[in-house]
Amino acid sequence: MEKELLVYIDGKYYPKSQAKTSVYDHGLLYGDGVFEGIRAYNGVVFKLKEHIDRLYRSAHAIMLQIPLTKEEMTQAVLETLRKNKLSTAYIRLVVTRGVGDLGLDPRKCPKPSVIIITDTISLHAGEAKEKGVTAMISWVRRNPVDSTTHEIKSLNYLNSVLAKIEANINGVDEAICLDKNGFVAEGVGENLFIVKNGKLLTPPSCTGTLAGITAQVVIKLAKKSGYDATETNITPFQLFTADEVFFTGTAAEIVPIREVNKRQIGNGSPGPVAKRLMAEFHKIVLDPKEGVPIYS
Ligand code: PMP
Repeated sequence: MEKELLVYIDGKYYPKSQAKTSVYDHGLLYGDGVFEGIRAYNGVVFKLKEHIDRLYRSAHAIMLQIPLTKEEMTQAVLETLRKNKLSTAYIRLVVTRGVGDLGLDPRKCPKPSVIIITDTISLHAGEAKEKGVTAMISWVRRNPVDSTTHEIKSLNYLNSVLAKIEANINGVDEAICLDKNGFVAEGVGENLFIVKNGKLLTPPSCTGTLAGITAQVVIKLAKKSGYDATETNITPFQLFTADEVFFTGTAAEIVPIREVNKRQIGNGSPGPVAKRLMAEFHKIVLDPKEGVPIYS
């Protein structure tokens, strides 16, 4: 029988089938917690510092005191990967408010819970990335910045789940959310870029999108490759008439979009900018300087 993966919960390791938390944890009862999705490629955890920093920023925003220092958290992530003898993995780091009573008051939760899952993830398997995916603008607006905004990477993902359901029942691969003013925001778990006349545009954080780590990497790679990249409001019209559209995200990586609400994007297959950035991205994730080595 294959050995089960071990999951870190509050300093101890449990086989996947026994890795459980309390039904009184406010992470479950109220979505009260924060998380990160991180990838390791070939022995290097890509942008681990940036992910840990963002986790602590999210926690700060919801006044959740993480019971580990950033250094201890980093070591816990690396140790979990080592225990599972993993070099290439998808890491899910979750900090919940912890066990409380049945009221939502976080003061009733004395001890936040830290969970580290190291496993794999497969989004857009097979030829999807070579061919491009289909997407639709969903009726579900991105939560405004004075609401459960995605600027905080919290356990509240119902907004994205609703948008994804809409894509599913309409037979398209992905959903795109607008902000409350009607500007393009992001995908359900990805940032979005359009390319027009060789220039990259991506929505600003005032649309309530998460400040994506992959998006930052892509902006850097684009500039290095000689393309202009700007954060600016994007209308649905600009989206429909873009030369190229693509998603970026840790789990998704770079995913070209070939169709939005049945409007073909460009010539209906991944464009030259997306292809170039995908190639550059696959190189940079293997660079030990861009992350933290697991086995050193
Ligand atoms: N937006 C949302 C809502 C997300 O959940 C994610 C993925 N975690 C992203 C964007 C992409 O962010 P990153 O590149 O940091 O993974």
